[in-house]
Amino acid sequence: MRFEIEIRGVVQGVGFRPFIYKLASSMQLLGFVSNSDFGVYITVESSKNSVGEFIKQIRIQKPQLSEIESIRVSTIKDNEIFSDFSIKESRCSSKLSLMIPSDIAICQECREELEDRSNRRYQYPFISCVNCGPRFSIIKNLPYDRDKTSMERFPMCKKCEQEYTNPKDRRYHAQPIGCFECGPKLSLLDSQFKEIESENIIDKVVTLIKSGKIVAIKGVGGYHLVCDATNDETMKLLRERKQRASKPFAVMIKSINTIKEIAEVNAKEQELLTSNKKPIVLLKKKKSNYLSNLVAPDVNQVGLFLPPTPLHYLILQKLKTPIVATSANISGEPISSTNEEILKLSHIWDYVLENDRDIVNSCDDSVLFVENDTTFLLRNARGYAPVYFKLLKPLKKKVLCLGANQKSTVAITIDDRVILSPYIGDLDGLSSIEHFKSHIDTLKRVYNFEPEVVVCDKHPNYESTKFAFELKEQKPDLELIQVQHHYAHVLATMGVNDIDSKVLGVSFDGTGYGDDKVNGEAREGALGYGNIWGGEFFVCDRKSYERVANFKEFRLLGGKMAIKEPRRVALSFLFNLYGEEVFELKNSVTDSFLEYELKTLYIAWQKGLNSPLTSSCGRLFDCVASLLDIVQICSYEGESGLLLESFYDETIDDSFNFSIDNGVIDFNEVVLQIMKEKSKTIAVSKFFNSIIEIIYKVSKEYDLPVVLSGGVFQNRVLLRIIMKKMPNAILAKEFVSNDSAIAYGQAIAVANSL
Ligand code: ZN
Ligand code: ZN
Ligand code: FE
Repeated sequence: MRFEIEIRGVVQGVGFRPFIYKLASSMQLLGFVSNSDFGVYITVESSKNSVGEFIKQIRIQKPQLSEIESIRVSTIKDNEIFSDFSIKESRCSSKLSLMIPSDIAICQECREELEDRSNRRYQYPFISCVNCGPRFSIIKNLPYDRDKTSMERFPMCKKCEQEYTNPKDRRYHAQPIGCFECGPKLSLLDSQFKEIESENIIDKVVTLIKSGKIVAIKGVGGYHLVCDATNDETMKLLRERKQRASKPFAVMIKSINTIKEIAEVNAKEQELLTSNKKPIVLLKKKKSNYLSNLVAPDVNQVGLFLPPTPLHYLILQKLKTPIVATSANISGEPISSTNEEILKLSHIWDYVLENDRDIVNSCDDSVLFVENDTTFLLRNARGYAPVYFKLLKPLKKKVLCLGANQKSTVAITIDDRVILSPYIGDLDGLSSIEHFKSHIDTLKRVYNFEPEVVVCDKHPNYESTKFAFELKEQKPDLELIQVQHHYAHVLATMGVNDIDSKVLGVSFDGTGYGDDKVNGEAREGALGYGNIWGGEFFVCDRKSYERVANFKEFRLLGGKMAIKEPRRVALSFLFNLYGEEVFELKNSVTDSFLEYELKTLYIAWQKGLNSPLTSSCGRLFDCVASLLDIVQICSYEGESGLLLESFYDETIDDSFNFSIDNGVIDFNEVVLQIMKEKSKTIAVSKFFNSIIEIIYKVSKEYDLPVVLSGGVFQNRVLLRIIMKKMPNAILAKEFVSNDSAIAYGQAIAVANSL
C-alpha cells in the first residue's frame, strides 16, 4: 500500500529529513521525504503494519530539537515507482505555518570534536551541526536554507560541502556549518575598533580577562560584557562604567560541577542548566563561594549558566574562572547586536572579541527559575523564542500585536497560530525602538505577513501604542484595537494553560493603564494620566471582563518617580493616615526626605499634582520595603520584591488584618501594623502571607478557577506560598508573567472579539 504522511510542528532545520531517511532505509521502506508548507511530507510504500511501526518509531526516535505537533496518515494512489527511499527538494509554496527554530547551544558530539586534536574542527569556535548552533539569530527568511541566513556570505569549502550534501552525515543540511577554512572568523579589536590580534585570539582574550579587563564578546544573539567574576576590582569597574549600582549580574561557568560549588542545584535546575537551551537559571547562592561579592550583592540568589556556544566554551576551558557575562546594553534596553551599537558602549569595554557572522535577529539570554519543580521564565529569549501558541479557532484576519512598553515582545497571528517574538527589552531609548521595529520586520518578512489589524495597549504614552497609531495613519484601513493591560495579562496565563472558561483573573502587577472612569468620563484614548491599575480581580473569560475587586487607590507621588522610589509610595500612605502630622513623624521614610521635599510632596498629594491614583500591588511591595527601611530608592526594577524575599521566614504563618469592603481592599491598616512591628522578618513574612490571604478571601466569593498573572507573580516566595496554600491556582508555568506576556494576551483578546 502507499501512504502519505504529513508531520507538523518544529520539523524543519532540525535534522528531520535525514532522520526519516535513515529510519525508512533501516526499515526497508521505499518512497521519499521532503519539506513542505506545513512541515514534513513523506510518501512510503509499505504494509499497514509497518507504516504503524514507522510512525511509532518517528515519535520515539525523533531528533532532539524537533517537536511533533501532529502526524496525519492517509492512503494514496500514486503511479510513481520507487526503487529506494530518498530526500527530495522542498515542496513549499507559502511559508505560513513554518516555525522558526531557536538558537541551540553546542551539543555533546560537537564538544567532543572541539576537543579532539585529530578532528579538523579542533578548537574551531563556530563548530555546529544539525543538532546545534545558531538558528533564529541568523535567519533572514524561510524556508530555513543557508542562502537565507547570514551564513550566505561564507561559501562552503569542499569538505564542508561533502558533509552538507551527505544524508548519512550528521551535518547533512546543517545550515550554519563551516570550518577554519570557510566559516566565520574571530578578530580582537581595541578601543579604537582596530584589529590588534589575528593569531591565538582566544589565548589573548583569556589573558586580558585574567588581567582584569572588560571584553565585549559577540555571541549568538548579541554582545556580552565579560570579565572575571572573582575579581572585586574589575567588578567595581564594571559597575561604575555600566552605572549599575547593585542589580545582580549573570555569571557563565564552565561546568555543572563548578556551578554546584557556587550554588545549590536540584535535579530540575540541573536539567535546565544542561539542556540544549542553556538558559540563565537563578540559583540559591552557597554561603561561602568564591564569586566577588559585587556580582549579586544583598540577595541570596545568583543567575548562573553554562557556555551556550563553542566560543564561550573554549574561553572558559582555558580561563578556569567564572566570568560575568552580562548583556551589552544600557540598562533595560535591548542587547547590542551590531558594530554601531557596541561602539556606543565603548566607555564600558576595553576590547571587543568580534566575528564576521552578522546577527540578523538580536536575542538576549533567557532567564528562569524553578520553584516547586515548576519552571518560571523571567525572560523568554535565546532557546525559548520565538514561541508558538494555538488559538481556539483560526482567525480570518492577520493581526499584529505590539505588546506593552517594558520587557517588550511582539506577536503576529496566522490562522490559529500566535507567533511570539523573543524579549526585546524596554522601549525607552531610540535604539530599543529600532530593535522593536526590526523584530516586527523579521516576522513580516519571514511569514510574508501584512497586518490587517494592529493591537496595542491602552496606555497612550507607550512607544508601542504610538507606533500602532503611526501605522494606522499610514494605512487608514488598518483596524486598530486597544486592549486593557491587566486583562491581557490574565488572558496570557489563561492561554498557556488552555483555559476557555469563566475564571477569576488576578492581575498583580507594577503599573498599567486602567480602564475605569475618571470624573465620570471614560478615559479611553485620552492623553495624560488618570487611574493606574495593577492590583485587580476580574471575572472574565476570553471575550470580556468585569473588574470585581481591587486595592484601594493611593497616590503615586511624582508619577514615574514613585516607581523608582519606594519611599514615595510609603509616604503616600503616611499622608493618607496622618495628614500634616507626617511632618512630626520621625521614621525611616520621612528621614529619607529633606523637610522642603516633604512639604512639596504633601501639597502634590493634597492636590493630586503629578500624583495619579493607583491600585498597583507591585507598589505595595515598595511601600513595605520602604517602611522597613530595606530600600528607599531602587537602583533597578523589581529590587524591593527581591530584597523582601530574603527576609521571609516560612515558619511564620500569620498575616496582618485587612478589610475588604465591597471589593475594595484596604492596605492602610496593614501599613499601621507594619509600623508597629519591630522585627523585619515577622513584618515581611506576615506581608507575604497577607497577599495570599487577600487572594484567597476574594476567590472564596466566586466559585471559579483562579488565574494568576502579572509581574508580582515572579516573586519566588509568593509563588512558593501559593503553590502550597492554593495548589489549584493557575500560574503562567513555563512562561513569563511579566509584560513580555502582554502581546500574547492581546492576540487572545482580539481572537475572541473579531
Ligand atoms: Zn552539534
Ligand atoms: Zn569548511
Ligand atoms: Fe504589566
